[in-house]
Order: sequence, then structure tokens, then C-alpha cells
Amino acid sequence: MLAAAVALPAAEFHIDQPAEFARLVPAGAKVAKLAGDMGFIEGPVWVTADGGYLIFSDIPNNELKRWSAAGGLTTFRKPSQNANGNTLDLAGRLLTCEHSGRRVAMLENDGTLRTVVDSFDGKKLNSPNDVVVKSDGTLWFSDPEYGLRTDPATKQRVGKEQAANHVFRHDPKTGKTTAVVKDFVQPNGLAFSPDEKKLYVADSGTPRHIRVFDVAADGSLRNGAVFCAIDKGAPDGIRVDKDGRVWSSAGDGVQIFSTKGERIGKILTPEAPANLCFGGTDGKTLYITARKSLYAIQVAVAGASR
Ligand code: MG
Repeated sequence: MLAAAVALPAAEFHIDQPAEFARLVPAGAKVAKLAGDMGFIEGPVWVTADGGYLIFSDIPNNELKRWSAAGGLTTFRKPSQNANGNTLDLAGRLLTCEHSGRRVAMLENDGTLRTVVDSFDGKKLNSPNDVVVKSDGTLWFSDPEYGLRTDPATKQRVGKEQAANHVFRHDPKTGKTTAVVKDFVQPNGLAFSPDEKKLYVADSGTPRHIRVFDVAADGSLRNGAVFCAIDKGAPDGIRVDKDGRVWSSAGDGVQIFSTKGERIGKILTPEAPANLCFGGTDGKTLYITARKSLYAIQVAVAGASR
């Protein structure tokens, strides 16, 4: 899978729990640079169709990119309305958060791009950032204000209609959108535990931590608590592996946490990651979108199903 990649000098890790880290990242595993010279990349999702490929966003270049070992780097969609987070729905259709589109959009199988959700309480969303899909088909997405322009004079975000920066659940069956958490500064990456009983949400604002919530049967969130703090930079995109560990982007690389929120170690990267995803034929390649470049490393555990 990574044969065509340029291997960087010695992989570098920061290891907090040696035995556990060795179970996750094999000795000799190396971070490889797959592509570079992009703007600011985000929102990777692995698609198993057509032999497997990665879709991700180049936000400032207003483009969705596609990468595969066989096909290299190509344009998937341009313009992308400054797309950010991507995921697949239960039918394998691509869901995309758009900053300038201020919506979550879906690519239908016939090639039509349509709006799934673009408002809450009669007001435009801020700039949806990341999205995940639960096994009941509901979409859970974050709506920080990063995609709105800041007026240099007033320091206010231009065109902001929402009173705050919420995490939402959207049910495509009913069309109903619900704010499930309202007290984040800048909610960002989201991920469910493998049993979907917990939801992790990163706050990239001043807290720079990941919170965890119990997911109730009615779709509400309860018992919110700080799960872990990030010591370098801020958490942005996050993923959960099949055993429930949390893998978070951070200023110095990808930080891995146990189900108890204790840090196991870090995969250090040459550029600061904004997001990551598991992929590859066995689900054990970790793809990392880091500023201008796409990186990958073979790990020893696969991601949770979604
Ligand atoms: Mg993000």
C-alpha cells in the first residue's frame, strides 16, 4: 500500500506506556509522506470501492482530493465550497461538511450533490467542521465558527447567525436537527465508541481537550466529562480504534489514549495533523492529514467500523 511513498528518516515516537504502545505501533513502523504541496488538508475518509482510496479536503484550495496507491493524487471535486470533514453514510454515500456552503452535503449515487442540513432554529449554520454517522442513520456534526471570516476591526465573525457553537444530531428520516451539546467553545472532531454508548468530541477552543458523553437511547447526551487533555496544540480530528482507544490529532502528531483517557503514546509527524482516519485493505493504515501534506503509517489495530 505504501510502496510508492517516500519514507522519512527514522520514525519518531513519544512512548508513555511501552507495552501497550508496542501492541499498537509495530517496531520499525515508519511515517511515510504520500503527497505534499497542498494548502491545508483535513477530513480524510477511506472508501473501500474501486480497490480502495482516500478522499480528503484541501480547504483553502477549495478542493476535494482523492489518493490511492495505484492512482496517486487527483482532484475529486472542485470547487468544494471549502469542504472540511468527510464521512460515509450507511449506504456508502459521501457526506461533506462545507465551510463556505455552511452545510452538510451528500453526494448521491447519480452524482447529484444535495444539502442534508444547513440551518438550525431557522438560522444558518456557522461552518460545519466534522461529521460522523451512527448505525441508526443519524448524522452527528460539529459547527464551530472557524470557517467564518473575522472582521479585523470588531474581531467578530462575519455573518454568524447561531448564538453559539453547537454539536448537532440530524435525523435524515424526520429532517429534525437537535443541538445535543451547547457549551463547547469550538467543537471539532467527533467519534463514537465501538458500541456507540459513548461519544467523544474534541474542543479545539481554549479548553484543548476531548470530552466524553454517554449516548442515551433517545439520542441525548449525558454525563459529560473531560476525557483527556492535549498537551501540544489542540485536538482537531479524532478516531476510535476497534478496541475503543481514542486517536487524536495534536500539534506534535497523533496522540493515542486508552479507554480511560490515559495517554499511551504519540506518533510524531513533521507537520501538525488536523485529522486522521484508518483505512487500507485491512483497515490498519493510519492516514494523517497534516497541514500541506498527507502521511500514513502502518499500525497493528484497525479502526472502529465508523
Ligand atoms: Mg476538524
